[in-house]
Amino acid sequence: MTGHDAIDTSRPHPARVYDWLLGGKDNYPVDEQMARQLLALDSRAPEMARVNRAFMHRATRWLGMTGGVRQYLDIGTGIPTEPNLHQIAQQVAPDSRIVYTDNDPIVLRHAEALLRSTPEGVTEYVQADAREPGAIIEAAGKTLDLDRPVALSLIALLHFVSDDDGAHELVRALLAPLAPGSYLVLSHVTGDFDPDTSERARELYKQRGLTLVPRTRDEFAAFFEGLDLVGPGVSLATDWRPELGEVVPLSGDGPIPGYAGVARKP
Ligand code: SAH
Repeated sequence: MTGHDAIDTSRPHPARVYDWLLGGKDNYPVDEQMARQLLALDSRAPEMARVNRAFMHRATRWLGMTGGVRQYLDIGTGIPTEPNLHQIAQQVAPDSRIVYTDNDPIVLRHAEALLRSTPEGVTEYVQADAREPGAIIEAAGKTLDLDRPVALSLIALLHFVSDDDGAHELVRALLAPLAPGSYLVLSHVTGDFDPDTSERARELYKQRGLTLVPRTRDEFAAFFEGLDLVGPGVSLATDWRPELGEVVPLSGDGPIPGYAGVARKP
């Protein structure tokens, strides 16, 4: 194992904190500690993670069933949590081809769960950083036919990349080589409903050397510029085509502060 692939258990990692919030076992005491601090800030943090995951399920179902998508490039996949994206896509169409990417070595370590494809389809895992879109597209092109539409998803990822770090440029660069009829699928944390809590969460990440960038609705919507948003457009993740999947039970009345959207490249 190279240094690049070493798992750092001295500081929390977003993939592992998220895994803890989802009730997973692939996390370390530093991650649990941070997740518990997020929980103290907002008791609905685990619901937020489940709501986000449920959006991924519904969006993938919609892409396969209505969008006719058979190829997926999922960046910031996270630690495998059933059902994973390919399980939903291949349930709709067994011949679906999926390339997964994450920059956290813990995801690579658990990648075998992502590689259990149907015999008709393909799944591949590439360890790469979203800020190196050229390398990702090159690797994805070995498994996907880039002359045909691809659903590019960065689900709950872009709030870990600041504007200065190239959040918008990386989305443009990943979309540019994709065929017309491709889709962009995003979800994102916002501080629109509770700016204080959002700011404290941002501080919590910052103290650990991590970037969290909650964005406003307009800032989030800007990622879809030049694309055609599909049905209900930019909305709360909870409100994106709820009829397509399970409803996550919520303990409070206020909105779960995450936006979501799916758009088609013309
Ligand atoms: N998409 C999954 C996981 C979201 S957690 C889901 O919605 O359920 C965010 C994931 O993004 C983590 O696994 C983290 O490791 C990954 N990530 C964060 N920054 C990244 C980057 N620059 N490049 C690739 N992956 C990144």
